[in-house]
Amino acid sequence: PSVLLTTMSSSSSSSPVVEEAKRIAREFDYPAERVQVGVKEYIRQMNEGLAAEHTTLSQIPSFVTAVPNGTEKGLYLAVDLGGTNFRVCSVDLHGDSTFSLTQSKIMIPRELMASGTAKDLFVFLARQIEAFLRIHHNDHFEAHIRRRSLGQTEQELFDLGFTFSFPVRQMGINKGTLIRWTKGFNIPDAVGQDVCALLQSAIDELGLPVRVAALVNDTVGTLMARSYTSPGKTGTLIGAIFGTGTNGAYVERLDKITKLEQFPDAHYDRSTSEMVINAEWGSFDNQMNVLPTTLYDDALDADSNNPGIQMFEKRVSGMFLGEILRRALVAMHRDPAVGLLKAAGRSKVVVPQDSALYKQWGIDTSFLSLVEADNTPGLVEVKVALKDHLRVDDPSYEDSQAVKLLVHAIGKRAARLSAVPLAAILHHTGKLQTEDLVDIGVDGSLVEFYPNFEGYIREALRQVPEIGPEGEKKVRIGISKDGSGVGAALIALVAKQEDHHVQH
Ligand code: BGC
Ligand code: MG
Repeated sequence: PSVLLTTMSSSSSSSPVVEEAKRIAREFDYPAERVQVGVKEYIRQMNEGLAAEHTTLSQIPSFVTAVPNGTEKGLYLAVDLGGTNFRVCSVDLHGDSTFSLTQSKIMIPRELMASGTAKDLFVFLARQIEAFLRIHHNDHFEAHIRRRSLGQTEQELFDLGFTFSFPVRQMGINKGTLIRWTKGFNIPDAVGQDVCALLQSAIDELGLPVRVAALVNDTVGTLMARSYTSPGKTGTLIGAIFGTGTNGAYVERLDKITKLEQFPDAHYDRSTSEMVINAEWGSFDNQMNVLPTTLYDDALDADSNNPGIQMFEKRVSGMFLGEILRRALVAMHRDPAVGLLKAAGRSKVVVPQDSALYKQWGIDTSFLSLVEADNTPGLVEVKVALKDHLRVDDPSYEDSQAVKLLVHAIGKRAARLSAVPLAAILHHTGKLQTEDLVDIGVDGSLVEFYPNFEGYIREALRQVPEIGPEGEKKVRIGISKDGSGVGAALIALVAKQEDHHVQH
């Protein structure tokens, strides 16, 4: 970064492109005082969500009442719907903090995400499960079909953990109704339905030997997976996703979840003192009390399919950062006084008509990660990224500088915003006071690939007086790559054990 700054201050005074990029970049500043105000407001909204339903922070009880300790054992299926891909996997938990996992990833066809019916989507998912079983567990599958044809009752069903990464009003460990779609999904007839039942009936229609045993948000899965694998005896406190979307789950004291009284029929282990809460922090501060905003954020929201909703997520997660950037770039491109990505001084267009620059959602996070990572003096990687992703022909050095300035500003604001819920939860649970080390499991393309995302989070954590440099040092953040699959398997295991308790 220091190289970049010196290069810029020596050459920028004459370049309107770079000057304008700097000006816009400053609009994305999110200074320490704002972070602190954000944390206070987060704590307020979090308490509100623990006491009542229909609040901006949903604080959804997951009915998961224990985190694993690494000794869990068995073979489970897991599926994961919620981002760009649908994943099917089988997870063999070895009982010694290790596991083996077989998985397949399938891109979800766009038409199923945003225009089909719930039935279309769930039948598609069940078909993928069938294909997976045929490839990886065919013996088991055939045996099942034989037994059924002999009229024998089913003994060996696969227990499946269903990771469904959308807000669900959970009524038990394998029961929950969809509250709303996020991240570009939009299948209206699924809202309000029990997504476990939808998956189970699609599975039954195909006659698969599978029982949907648990419904799991990806953050809860990540928390469980991290807790199973994390080094030492420390249980994990928070599971968080910074990927296509963003959200977190954490371990809460049962007596603080006062709204649980409103779930009298829910089935869970009442002898324990804790429960995992799915915060659904993507909708933190939908009312915009404290969130920062710019023209580009506002326009993105207005043109989205859920205006006014997921306002935090729209400033933090991968699906949206590219679109914020794109809107800022287009503004600079169309402004004749600036002329970003125009042939030197001319109006000759260097961006083709059908470039992703002109397409809503055209820029994805991988572009931001590539640009942010470029530390070459001539910004050659930025040039390549502009060519590969936006098909921009021969951008100038100033163009590349401008793009890099904006990417950096947007990415850094996202990371600093990400510190807000983390700091709030760390403070609210008091764990930094009672423990030497607090473990956080994370997953998602931003934490994994955006350079220094964790570093910026940590910097902001240190600036929150309730955490400070001492507290920040106690925070251990570990990637739990594709952890939601393992986590779903772990919850399917817990669900099965609880079932046994009830039956015997
Ligand atoms: C969803 C959450 C999910 C998060 C990360 C958000 O859009 O509302 O349920 O955990 O994305 O996948
Ligand atoms: Mg995911």
